[in-house]
Amino acid sequence: MLKENVYANIGICDEVFDFGERILKSLEERFKNIDETAEVNQIKVISAMQKNRVDAACFNESTGYGYDDVGRDTLERVYADCFNCEDALVRPQITCGTHALALALSANLRPGDELLSPVGRPYDTLEGVIGIRPTVGSLAEYGVTYRQVDLLPDGGFDWEGIKNAINEKTRVVTIQRSKGYQTRKTFSVEEIAEIISFVKKIKPEVICMVDNCYGEFVERVEPSDFGADMIVGSLIKNLGGGLAPSGGYICGTCECVERCGYRLTAPGLGKEVGTNMGMMRQFYQGLFMAPTVVAGALKGAIFAANIYERLGFRVVPNGCESRHDIIQAVEFGTAEGLRAFCEGIQAAAPVDSYVTPVPGDMPGYDSQVIMAAGAFVQGSSIELSADGPLREPYAAYFQGGITWYHAKLGILKSVQSLVDKGIVSVDVMK
Ligand SMILES: *Cc1c(COP(=O)(O)O)cnc(C)c1O
Repeated sequence: MLKENVYANIGICDEVFDFGERILKSLEERFKNIDETAEVNQIKVISAMQKNRVDAACFNESTGYGYDDVGRDTLERVYADCFNCEDALVRPQITCGTHALALALSANLRPGDELLSPVGRPYDTLEGVIGIRPTVGSLAEYGVTYRQVDLLPDGGFDWEGIKNAINEKTRVVTIQRSKGYQTRKTFSVEEIAEIISFVKKIKPEVICMVDNCYGEFVERVEPSDFGADMIVGSLIKNLGGGLAPSGGYICGTCECVERCGYRLTAPGLGKEVGTNMGMMRQFYQGLFMAPTVVAGALKGAIFAANIYERLGFRVVPNGCESRHDIIQAVEFGTAEGLRAFCEGIQAAAPVDSYVTPVPGDMPGYDSQVIMAAGAFVQGSSIELSADGPLREPYAAYFQGGITWYHAKLGILKSVQSLVDKGIVSVDVMK
């Protein structure tokens, strides 16, 4: 069967298909570079697995307390080596990225300490964790204060402001790599390295934590290669490779990770307990797949940026910028545009393709959010998904795609949805 025929059968008109193929032609060089990054990271993962003698016994299920859980302990060694860290906590009991971040923060901050964000407002759900938005159980309730230094109007770091914000109470500095639901740019590992070294020069004992969500394996290095004391993220994003059914990770120094262990389970018990819930094979295999999965997602993001830029929408990052996470923002300016885009992404899904996404309230978010996802793992955003808060500038945040071909279909479907609703005309694709 001809390629254009399968696309026609799934509802992509000739104009949209041809437009996509033309855009793709211009991206060959960039895609090659992405494949090379995946290659480097693939070898990194395999090396860490070989070094730690991963074998079939690592995939066995443990029960109860999970004492002497070889699979769990070996996986944590693999993560630590892969990310150039002393230790790691990689657990199915960490329920999501927010949980991993809340764990890392609450484990390493004490009453009277101050948390500093030198990169502006953190991710929406972290506002509740920190207590920026009054929330039961927040760090603020435990007497941890928070200080924030906003980015400069041009998006750069406010070095003077950061210097002035560091005081005798500053204990943890939190640096969010990805833009999250903002339209600022995502920081490169190099930029994060600059902040870390700047902060440590002023106060060497400060703990630098990087919210690494969506950034893993996008580059050939990670913030932990440049002095981050903890890198933190979710396994239903990049590192789970689409296979992990749940979980989160914290990689870092022995001291920081030990405190996280005591906080996750109980003081005195720490990392020694915690059954692996039978998820070890997926965790290992997910990490093994992650470099190529991230590469597919990156190609999708770049393809989307170039498509929507050509259609006249503002896209962040733009079509030719370098990439530091897998998220692509497209600003539609209207609720209709945002909804049409999400409907197209949904219609491309292997699961739940027949449903229509509608905006709704989400725990931890202060405006309504629309989400498109037809995922094998609920809420997994390494799988093709799009979401966006129903507020100006009505930006869709698009991410994932376990395979590049699915990401490509999703983007073509989204364009088709905008065409079908009269929001975009095929004439501009000529
Ligand atoms: C996804 C994300 C989080 C929170 O992760 P959840 O798994 O949704 O709780 C935190 N920070 C950033 C930058 C993220 O992208």
